[in-house]
Amino acid sequence: MRVDVVTIFPEYLAPLDLSLIGKARRTGILELAVHDLRTWTHDVHRTVDDTPYGGGPGMVMRPEPWGQCFDDLASPSTHLVVPTPAGAPFTQDLARAFSSDPHLLFACGRYEGIDQRVIDHAATRMRVSEVSLGDYVLFGGEVAVLVVMEAVTRLLPGVLGNADSLVEESHSAGVLEAPMYTKPPTWRGLDVPEVLRSGDHGKIARWRREEGLRRTAAQRPDLLSHLEGTGFQIPGVDV
Ligand code: SAM
Repeated sequence: MRVDVVTIFPEYLAPLDLSLIGKARRTGILELAVHDLRTWTHDVHRTVDDTPYGGGPGMVMRPEPWGQCFDDLASPSTHLVVPTPAGAPFTQDLARAFSSDPHLLFACGRYEGIDQRVIDHAATRMRVSEVSLGDYVLFGGEVAVLVVMEAVTRLLPGVLGNADSLVEESHSAGVLEAPMYTKPPTWRGLDVPEVLRSGDHGKIARWRREEGLRRTAAQRPDLLSHLEGTGFQIPGVDV
């Protein structure tokens, strides 16, 4: 997969060199480049922003540098991803969809965001997704790119040592994962649930399924709304 990230703060993306994303880059699974938007400016101050039409506080990112940047970096098979609090919520399903794209191009907004014509024009020549990390406002899109790239990269074949990790984790099957435990069996008076040490794989799978459902009902009942009225029972929980 090829990924280009465009930002006015390239240093913000330094973590993309670390850990498993860094390894995916070094092994060639991921080809990733970070670009400074100011490369596509032509004035002495390398200006990327201006005051908003219609008035109001803050500045808006001008369209020209973005347009020229996309002329250089994009092709019809590019998927432009624009982080914005006004976008669709970023989910595991979107991460899965993005992970099969041949080329992701991220446009990191700053200030009050990017002139809307940049997104409208890009949509005439490539696929565009506006995505939100959540219902809050950040300073810029860089952190959103780090989040999206973590979620996408771990889905690329060959990145995780054990691909089974992806099968039963939270959000892969519409429920949260059951709590996990490791050694020692007793720590500060707290025991690992007996069933996990029983060696009975059938019982362990059933316990994990039920605990995952109980946890989902407690923390994220919205994920179980499709079960309402179906008579589906979670032991000890009213759905
Ligand atoms: N004026 C914009 C609004 O109210 O929708 C907010 C602009 S925000 C200060 C600057 C940039 O941060 C955005 O262009 C976007 O790239 C990024 N950003 C802020 N919050 C975000 C969120 N929840 N999800 C994704 N990106 C976000």
